Amino acid sequence: MYYFYIDKEANPTTGEREIHKDFCSRLKKVKNKEFLGRFKTFKEAKEYALKRFGRAIGCSKCCPEGFRR
Ligand SMILES: [Zn+2]
Repeated sequence: MYYFYIDKEANPTTGEREIHKDFCSRLKKVKNKEFLGRFKTFKEAKEYALKRFGRAIGCSKCCPEGFRR
């Protein structure tokens, strides 16, 4: 299980919010974040984020499997 957080400030260009794992160094710089929950995989976290916040992608550093297709 991983703990996932979402950056509540969407990217102004793409409208996407970034999903991070709790240990991500980039997450520390995110001011407006929210705890998403505990999930086994990034995919599950993303599905949940989509329902709750709309468009979301993985952080390139901690969730590379979800960063760009
Ligand atoms: Zn990250």
